[in-house]
Amino acid sequence: MDNCLFCKIIKGEIPSTKIYEDDEFYAFLDIKPINQGHTLVVPKKHCRNLLDFPKSEETDLMEFLKKVAKAVTKGVGADGFNLGMNNEGAAGQVVFHAHFHIIPRFKNDGLTSWPHKEFDNEELERIKDKIVKYL
Ligand code: 5GP
Ligand code: ZN
Repeated sequence: MDNCLFCKIIKGEIPSTKIYEDDEFYAFLDIKPINQGHTLVVPKKHCRNLLDFPKSEETDLMEFLKKVAKAVTKGVGADGFNLGMNNEGAAGQVVFHAHFHIIPRFKNDGLTSWPHKEFDNEELERIKDKIVKYL
């Protein structure tokens, strides 16, 4: 897409710190990392989010994510990593070219998980009923 930031990065029109690429995917360091080594993995073919990501690339994507996550984790000496994806603005997506965040995590790095809510079984059942009719 002409006006897409990540398409421009993939084409080399905007500089990035490339980690790795193959025919289908491109991995580069996030310009505002949550932790050192925070890496973005993007499909080279523009798509908006996970739901329009092509099925034909799903298996390769998983291989690519694992390869890069392993290198990132070892490279920065992390104790683990979060794999994340924001889909649509309400979920924090700012760049509308699908991308995965690989965020290295260190013991006691001070980052906290999302807060949890308390739902009773009745509420869980009600929510389940709303969801399953779309499967
Ligand atoms: P989102 O919030 O859309 O899931 O994540 C977008 C990510 O892209 C953010 O973490 C942000 O720091 C990163 N980002 C935005 N612009 C650039 C850029 O020009 N170069 C790089 N390397 N990362 C960027
Ligand atoms: Zn794009």
